[in-house]
Amino acid sequence: MSKKVLVLADVRDGELRNVTLESLAAATKVAEGGVVTATVFGSNAKDLVEKLSHHGADQVVLVTDPALDQYTTDAYFQAFKQVIEKVEPDVIFTGHTAVGRDVSPRIAARLGLGLISDCTGLELVDGKMVFTRPIYAGKAFVKKAVREGIVFATIRPNNIPALEADTSRSAVTEELDVQLEKDSLRTLIKDVVRKTSDGVDLSEARVVIAGGRGVKSADGFKPLEELASVLGGAVGASRGACDAEYCDYALQIGQTGKVVTPDLYIACGISGAIQHLAGMSNSKVIVAINKDPEANIFSVADYGIVGDLFEVVPMLTEEFKKV
Ligand code: FAD
Repeated sequence: MSKKVLVLADVRDGELRNVTLESLAAATKVAEGGVVTATVFGSNAKDLVEKLSHHGADQVVLVTDPALDQYTTDAYFQAFKQVIEKVEPDVIFTGHTAVGRDVSPRIAARLGLGLISDCTGLELVDGKMVFTRPIYAGKAFVKKAVREGIVFATIRPNNIPALEADTSRSAVTEELDVQLEKDSLRTLIKDVVRKTSDGVDLSEARVVIAGGRGVKSADGFKPLEELASVLGGAVGASRGACDAEYCDYALQIGQTGKVVTPDLYIACGISGAIQHLAGMSNSKVIVAINKDPEANIFSVADYGIVGDLFEVVPMLTEEFKKV
């Protein structure tokens, strides 16, 4: 049966995050000929319509109130709720990102919906949507379906491939004049100051080069940064490296950090504590570099290199430069 599917676009620095395109692919799969609507917030929302339509949106609902230029819980919640009331979807998807993780449970609670979070897979079984999601910090997976009512799910980045862009597609665009109760917005973002070294977004990167306490200093991250730059990847870290002040906590991967599922994860000088594995063990190919052959990281690695990271990483960089 055809369905109306709504996808909340996740925008970072004025660009759509990949997970939005991946959510549109999921939406196209489950719509079964129905309408896929994307909604995008902020003053520059119009600039994003074309890309949304090329990747599967049949309809785009724009909410251009400048109060939505930066994410705040209250403003996004109010706008998203009004879009949902207008579109009346059968299915709602958001990315399992900082935005999706914050706004989706709030929407689900207020609208009395169930929410399946952090989905890594989606299949149609006898016409029913069945979602796969990790449990026990990624050690096992469960399959879940919604018995009745609106299906609401957050999609983990890098798991459901986005559709190839079809430049012949266009979308019906509608601007929705949402009513934000300005007095009830508890936060007002005046300015965003980003670190200069942001580069590739860690949670969506296809390649992650992660450093642990084995890098020994902030300078010890330099060879990892070079390898990441040659591979077009992002640099991540263990909590050990963050606690030792070798890098910022924004890079932390694991149970209390970011969850990443890149195509290639290279762990450099990371022992492989269970809390670290929780954030990266579902990566597609894992390479571990550690001078201790007994390090636990080798238990999840597809390829292990026993050696000094300060010798191995520059060698890899030189070899990849030749490719
Ligand atoms: P270590 O365990 O000290 O390992 C360093 C490794 O580097 C060693 O294996 C060593 O052999 C190797 N090494 C040293 N020198 C070299 C060299 N020159 N070349 C190659 N290898 C070398 N951790 C996380 O990462 N993410 C989390 O989200 C997280 N959440 C936590 C939550 C809780 C509640 C708790 C209690 C802990 C959490 N931790 C987390 C911490 C975790 O338990 C570990 O302490 C941490 O992951 C260890 O970091 P590490 O592997 O960098 O350091």
